[in-house]
Parts: sequence; structure tokens; C-alpha cells
Amino acid sequence: MINNDAKIINGIKHSKNLTDKIKELVLKSESLNKRKPSIVVILIGKNSASEIYVKNKIKIAENIGIISKKISYPSSISEKELLNKIKDLNKQNDIDGILVQLPLPMHISEDNVILSIDPKKDVDGFHPINLGNLFLGNNNGMIPCTPLGCIYMLKKELGSLNGLNATIVGRSNIVGKPMQSLLLKENCTTAITHSKSRNLSEFTLKADILIVAIGIAEFIDNNYVKDEATIIDVGINRKKINDKIKILGDVNFNDVINKVNLITPVPGGVGPMTIACLMYNTVKASFLRNNHEFKEIIFDE
Ligand code: NAP
Repeated sequence: MINNDAKIINGIKHSKNLTDKIKELVLKSESLNKRKPSIVVILIGKNSASEIYVKNKIKIAENIGIISKKISYPSSISEKELLNKIKDLNKQNDIDGILVQLPLPMHISEDNVILSIDPKKDVDGFHPINLGNLFLGNNNGMIPCTPLGCIYMLKKELGSLNGLNATIVGRSNIVGKPMQSLLLKENCTTAITHSKSRNLSEFTLKADILIVAIGIAEFIDNNYVKDEATIIDVGINRKKINDKIKILGDVNFNDVINKVNLITPVPGGVGPMTIACLMYNTVKASFLRNNHEFKEIIFDE
């Protein structure tokens, strides 16, 4: 009988392993800079999901020795006021990372906010300079946390990704597009698909690695999956089932499990890695901003 547990990519275990290494980097950074690395998280308005995400980020930062500060604003804050605050944080030398929790209220432009953050402090990796560096194939800048966590797990689980076919479902700027750049850098042959793609399964059925980030609960079933594929399910969908809120991925886990080589569960897969990679980017920023050499541990091990 096949042991399905052996097919699960345990994001909690991977994030713990990475966090242990980040703790060592935090100590090294502290001894070089004579202060701990630090991050400021800005939360605007009341959004229960965002509040939970920010709380988790602050808690994990504190656990690993990164100084963290939350700044909350009501949703009525003007764009100008927010941009002025970011300008001010950009100038403060003892702040390594600035993160503005998305989504933002309608009257504030996400693009203007992202552009206002100093790229060296952009620990989300969404600034065009950081995305541009990634597109050009270098790892010197900040890399968006979710795709960074996905590539870390893929490399740990599969070793070399050289020559594998990778299909990404979803082309967002924060997941799908940076994921493609990272997979290309690992010498995968990549395809990126979206809501207008014709014959989606033609692409997904070729995938040795299938990354799904669309935000539709259990959309991908076994008809989309090649035998022995490795699946990374990025989706987080909240669904009320029997009066209880359940978190579901974009992949129908029970339908595909017998077919796959490996798969990330939801929850417990990509989510914990995203936060670990935010910590990684913060400590990386604390080295690079102060002109210290930083040895990349996600790609070079
Ligand atoms: P997004 O910005 O809404 O983008 C969704 C993408 O999916 C778009 O490119 C869209 O195509 C595509 N799409 C929608 N329906 C499709 C369909 N039927 N077939 C093929 N493609 C389709 O979403 P996102 O921000 O990337 O997030 C995606 C999911 O990942 C969400 O559930 C989100 O909560 C989750 N997420 C999780 C983490 C984590 O840490 N685990 C982090 C980030 C996001 P078009 O471009 O044509 O509209």
C-alpha cells in the first residue's frame, strides 16, 4: 500500500529548518551592526485576515530576535500621509525592513506605496527594482517571500530542478510572475497560465512541477495533474463548511494525492514558508544595507 504521508511537503518543518539558520544570521548581523535587525509593519484599516497575518509576522520576528514594530492607521488615512510616513521610515538608519500589509483601501494606490519604499528596505520584494533584478536572473535584491519559500521547498525536496517542466497557474506580480523567474533560474522549462489560457490542462498535464496560485478553492483536480507530479498549492481560500470556517487550497488534495509524487498541504505548506522568508529578507537587508557580505542560503546550499 502507498504511504500518502510520505508525499507531503511539510512546510512547518521546512520553515523551522530555515528559521534556525536565520537565527544564526540574526546573531551575526547583530555583532556586525551593533544592533538587532528590525522590521516595521504598517497595517491600514480593519481587515481580520490582515490583522492575523501581521500578528503572526510580529510574533515570529520577536521569536527569532528581529526587532519588530507595528504601525496601525485607520482606513481614512490619506495616501499623502502614508507616503510621508514611509519617506520618514526610509530615512531611519536603524530600520532594515518596511512592509505595508496589502490589500489597501481603495483611495490609496498600491503602486504608489510600493514605489515609495526604499528598494533596499522592501522586504516584500514588490518594488520594480527588486522584481527587475529577479527578472534579470540575479538574487542580490529582495525576492517576494511566497515564491522564495516555494523554491526553497522544491530544492530541498527534489534537489536539482534542471530541465524539469514547470507550469504555473496564476500570473500575479506577487506569486506567479516571480515564481517563473525563479524556476527559469533553476533551469526549468516554464509555462505560465491564467484565466484567459485556452486548454489549461494541456499545460498542467506536462508539468513535472505544478504551482497553483489562483484563489479558487480546490479548482485543480486529478484531470489537470500528470502522474508523479510535484504540486505546490499556494491558494488560501476560506470556506464555511458545516458552520465552521475551513481553509482550502486551490488544489483538490484528496483527488490528486494518489497521483502525485509530492504535494504541499493547505494549511501547513506554503504559508509558514512565506513568513520565514520575510524574516530571511529582513536579515538579508540588515547585511546588505550596511555593506556586509551576505551569503545566500536559499540557493547556494
Ligand atoms: P491574484 O492576484 O488574484 O491572481 C490570481 C491569478 O489566477 C490571476 O493571474 C488569474 O488570471 C488567475 N486565474 C484566476 N482564475 C483562473 C482560472 N480559472 N484558470 C487559470 N487561472 C486563473 O492572486 P494571488 O495574489 O496570486 O493569490 C492566489 C492565491 O494564493 C490566493 O488564494 C491567495 O490567498 C494565495 N496566497 C497565498 C500566500 C501564502 O503565503 N500561502 C501568499 C500569497 C497568495 P488573470 O490574470 O487572467 O486574472
